Amino acid sequence: MHAKERAIAPPFRRVIGAEVVVAPQLDTDELGTFSGEVPRPDALVETSLLKAEMVFRTLDVDCGMANEGSYGPIDRLPLNPAGVEIMAFIDRKRGIRLIETLVTHRTIWRLMRFKAGDPDRLLALKGMGFPQYGVFVGCNSDMSAPVKGLETVGEVISAMDREARRSDDGKAVLYSDMRAHRNPMRMKVLRALSWKLAWRLATLCPKCQAPGFGSIGSRRGLPCESCGDPTHYVHFEIDGCSACGHAAARPRKDGRRTAPKLSCRACK
Ligand SMILES: [Zn+2]
Ligand SMILES: [Zn+2]
Repeated sequence: MHAKERAIAPPFRRVIGAEVVVAPQLDTDELGTFSGEVPRPDALVETSLLKAEMVFRTLDVDCGMANEGSYGPIDRLPLNPAGVEIMAFIDRKRGIRLIETLVTHRTIWRLMRFKAGDPDRLLALKGMGFPQYGVFVGCNSDMSAPVKGLETVGEVISAMDREARRSDDGKAVLYSDMRAHRNPMRMKVLRALSWKLAWRLATLCPKCQAPGFGSIGSRRGLPCESCGDPTHYVHFEIDGCSACGHAAARPRKDGRRTAPKLSCRACK
């Protein structure tokens, strides 16, 4: 519904020669939408896998994929990213279920409150990148029905004043529209994540040759440079195959073999 294929299709075509088509007649909004709330990352994984399964309801294909993203104020997400994009890929013929994620540290989600006629409204709107970036307007005492589809500055300003007057505290809420087709930054992150997923699918399992061999986690315990005790630093990256379960440890990408003394409990 949000033109994500513009970001996803080119990497899939170039890397694995796969054609990406949009599943028709799917209203994934039944699984939840962006409303200013920030869901937990594991809930996002669940939702994106459910969405990918929905593809098979309307298309006779072997593979389906779907995306979920979450953006919010910096202190409300773990590890302090400004946002995270999750892509789920399912190959039902080969029994492959993959999740790729990409964390972005750029804050692109904003929410502000204004009284009717507030002179700062225009500057705030400009700061949010409007009209290149979309915005929603809500009523501060009743956020159940935000105003969408706003295209001109005049439309946004009059919606803000209308919602402010309707609110118990006289304030309207102005916040970022995070739907991909109204958010160029999100589209960019989605494109980067699509390259990552396509490259992963081009990597075959060394044991069963199924596509999608790649990172499934890491093991901590990199030895301390001074005493050799295990630390909380990552020791090995783990690659795995979703089809046969084969897994293999791989040394850290940065070539690091020991952890700094300062990270060691025994030496500190
Ligand atoms: Zn395998
Ligand atoms: Zn030590």
